Amino acid sequence: MPEGPEVETTRTSLLPALLGRVVVGAWISGKRMRAPLRCAQLQPLVGRAVVALGRRGKALWIDVEGGAGVLVRLGMTGRLVVEAGEARRAPHTHVALALMGGHELRFVDARRFGSVVPYRAPAARDALLADVGPDVLTLDDAGRRAVVDALRATERTLKDALLDQRLLAGVGNIYASEALFRARLSPYLRGRQLGAAAAARLVAAAEATLADAVRHRGTSFSDYVDGRGEQGDNLAYLYVFAREGEPCRVCGAAVRRRTQGQRSTYLCPACQPRAPRLR
Ligand SMILES: [Zn+2]
Repeated sequence: MPEGPEVETTRTSLLPALLGRVVVGAWISGKRMRAPLRCAQLQPLVGRAVVALGRRGKALWIDVEGGAGVLVRLGMTGRLVVEAGEARRAPHTHVALALMGGHELRFVDARRFGSVVPYRAPAARDALLADVGPDVLTLDDAGRRAVVDALRATERTLKDALLDQRLLAGVGNIYASEALFRARLSPYLRGRQLGAAAAARLVAAAEATLADAVRHRGTSFSDYVDGRGEQGDNLAYLYVFAREGEPCRVCGAAVRRRTQGQRSTYLCPACQPRAPRLR
């Protein structure tokens, strides 16, 4: 499932193909997605040039002249790609925006947990992002302090807290395990068990984990490809995720997989003991 780094890689890979391009038509499959969409809602984009691509957490948006645009969430299996308009649309293509010059921006999503939500003005876009917290890839000092405080105040486990997009946006299941390993913290610890130094270490680990993943153009564990249809390289760099039974890259102990909140958590039991970490 695409997380912050995959969405950021998608964004940067789409920029050269989209910026300044005029949208000349819109098409939808009509299949039900997470948010209902009618083709008429895309008409405000037609005749206007793309002026910006933005991202916060796992949400990506495309602004056109005049303030309208679309907010895209890739969900479990979604991807955004620019392809030649005459090329056959892939199965599970649900939205296509035709661009002047002959290409199409296509939203492809096999499981349809993703969404494409049009907006008419920047304020409407901001309202759609109201439940998205500070972006882990662009935290400033004040944001960092706020996330540290929020982590230390929660009764939830660190794994659950990291997955909460209102607390910190962009970390999903892969990078939660990776950040906790880098911080040498058990995913089962509760936020309130952390001292200030340990909480700051976890936030720094999350930032470094996602920044490294961006550098490697994302993790292609299942469906993920960028806007040019290319896979990322980050899978080879993961410390624990999807490495059950393999030796920890730091201590050599076998990496374990656990089910936590109905999802897989990977950890090194030697590097990440359950004892509270105040420092
Ligand atoms: Zn280890």
